[in-house]
Amino acid sequence: MTGTVYLVGAGPGAPDLLTLRAARLLGDADIVFHDALVHPETIALAARAEKIAVGKRCGRLSTAQQFINKRLVDSAHKHRIVVRLKGGDPMLFGRAQEELSALEAAGIQCEVVPGVTAALAAAAAVRTSLTQRGSARSVAFATPRVGAGENTSAWADGLKAADAGAIYMGVGEAANIAATLIDAGKPRTLPVAIVENASLPDQCIRYTTLAALPQLAAASIKGPALMLIGSQFAPRDTLADDRTPDARVERCRDFARSAAG
Ligand code: SAH
Repeated sequence: MTGTVYLVGAGPGAPDLLTLRAARLLGDADIVFHDALVHPETIALAARAEKIAVGKRCGRLSTAQQFINKRLVDSAHKHRIVVRLKGGDPMLFGRAQEELSALEAAGIQCEVVPGVTAALAAAAAVRTSLTQRGSARSVAFATPRVGAGENTSAWADGLKAADAGAIYMGVGEAANIAATLIDAGKPRTLPVAIVENASLPDQCIRYTTLAALPQLAAASIKGPALMLIGSQFAPRDTLADDRTPDARVERCRDFARSAAG
């Protein structure tokens, strides 16, 4: 008997942003391979499963992709329900294709369960639509992080053409992002919102501009952060009470507390 491997999106962070399908599969799973960023409460839903961290966190020890692929294939020969639990949605910046290809090559059944990707949690955090009637008709999902052998300059092509951008894994590359987009003709004053730990109690939102992005990004962003770039992401007046003297806004909100009252 060979099992099925499910590539499951865990959502952006908050455990209650998980789909019902994902929760059901976790409950049924025999074994779960999860990313480092997945919330412990989400992993705990896999009550009867063996749980294995194959975490990827930039700069920290991570499991080589090929080794993960092999472990998924091996597990499918031993277990009925194998869950590969990934942060956000598996199909965005999650190396899902490599896992799917390895499973398909080994003749193993696989299914993908979508999740809420970080860009959508970030847009929710700033209460600003990624698309805007009349001014933002397109959104590019992009990352400046490129793998070995990839064309390092082409990463921004989509962003240059789109009205709005959602940048993943961008904090360490803030100077590169700003220079690339300004060179491409984007205004230096183009608003940028950086949402750190979107959907989690320690969520923090910082507002800046393209030109000032490198300074801000370098300063004290430790958690996973998503950058939203586009004219709609300027801080609004409703947030004026959080305005810092240099006109950037920093706003941290505790969801648990604000939900309670
Ligand atoms: N598949 C994931 C993305 C994985 S790449 C998804 O769909 O969301 C990892 C990057 O996602 C991080 O470097 C960060 O840019 C972003 N990210 C993940 N979780 C986040 C969160 N809670 N808040 C802000 N950004 C997050």
